[in-house]
Amino acid sequence: MTNPDDLAAELTARNVAVVALTWVDNSGITRMKGIPVGRLAHAAQWGVGASPVFDTFLVDDSSVLGQYAGGPVGDLRLVPDLRKLTVLAGQPGWAWAPADRYDQNRDRHPQDARGVLERVVGKLADQGFTVRAGFEVEWCVTPSDSLPAYGMARVVEHSDYLRTLMEALIAENVLVEQLHPEYSPGQFEVSFSPLDPVGAADMLVLVRETIRAVSASFGRRASFAPRVVAGGVGNGGHIHLSLWRDSANLMLSDVGSSFVAGILARLPALLAFGAPSVASYLRLVPSHWAGAYACWGHENREAALRFVTGSPGERESAANIEVKCFDATANPYLALAALLSAGIVGVTDGASLPEPVEVDPASLASPPPRLPTSLSAAADALERDPLFASALGVELVDTVLAVRRGEVAVFDGASEEEIVARTLWRY
Ligand code: GLU
Ligand code: MG
Repeated sequence: MTNPDDLAAELTARNVAVVALTWVDNSGITRMKGIPVGRLAHAAQWGVGASPVFDTFLVDDSSVLGQYAGGPVGDLRLVPDLRKLTVLAGQPGWAWAPADRYDQNRDRHPQDARGVLERVVGKLADQGFTVRAGFEVEWCVTPSDSLPAYGMARVVEHSDYLRTLMEALIAENVLVEQLHPEYSPGQFEVSFSPLDPVGAADMLVLVRETIRAVSASFGRRASFAPRVVAGGVGNGGHIHLSLWRDSANLMLSDVGSSFVAGILARLPALLAFGAPSVASYLRLVPSHWAGAYACWGHENREAALRFVTGSPGERESAANIEVKCFDATANPYLALAALLSAGIVGVTDGASLPEPVEVDPASLASPPPRLPTSLSAAADALERDPLFASALGVELVDTVLAVRRGEVAVFDGASEEEIVARTLWRY
């Protein structure tokens, strides 16, 4: 059902008063405009006004000026995708829909991240490919605890919180596969069944805000920041991907290898999308399960790309690649669009993978190259690579670079502790 009047009537019957329309900006922050349920039909037809300046917003809410974005002039229309309209189980009286950003002539805004991902997925479809994508969500919640990593004791202590969260996700039709306590104090993870790329990114936005809302209803606060405690294991934003054609998973074939090789070859530039904050590089260090080396390996949790083989019997459908070096400051639409663009170039070029690394790369006498160790190095790699401007748009890449360099400047001279403190509650 996507008729806005019918949907509004149903929302009203379910005691919903407000609909949150969200989009994710280039610094990875989910921004929103809210409308009363009675305005849903108007919003679906005309959109809701939003300044294009948000494209240049930084993590601290200051903004920069790009060649194609920034400044006070202009207006975009946020149009809810009513197919995704969801009653929010963690926020009584609220519903949510991801918004597409159009200009006033109803042309898609070239820097609309969701539109960029739709375009990339469409290009893959033209070549006969589909993609299944899934995000893992890690977060730390206050108050922290000193209970064992992965321990049942932590789950017992947080039992009502976690059950309420699971109930909320189920009520929102989120396809949860797993929930567990993670390594760091107060850290948890949920993971989900794979979906089409846009669906997976939408689901990630919904899940994160649901975790935040359920946390708030318990008087607690969730952080998805890459580092929560200086020196500790951080929050990753791992992405699972598999490439398909004619209902067949290609990940165990040469085409799948070329897809992974295409991603591996471009990881430094890809980090400008997937590890896009200054804080990302506090997380992305060796021997912290973050995947700090430019290599791949079978089930290797220290490789940037972990090849997940699955068990015999389900391997043909389950095989996928896990991008470990990405974190939750990434705009999920852009992270996926960039990964798929790199992967498909690998397929077109028939790229081949180097030998896998089957130990912790840090333990090798001559380890594979480290990934960029700073945001400015990742931004430089992005700027040097013409692929992304042609695949994602010159305007978008220019703005992304302006935002990355703006954030580098914002944190210039800051200590590790300051970066952690100033990022912690932004994500
Ligand atoms: N929290 C780790 C990270 O920063 C990942 C732990 C895991 O392997 O799930 O990516
Ligand atoms: Mg994890």
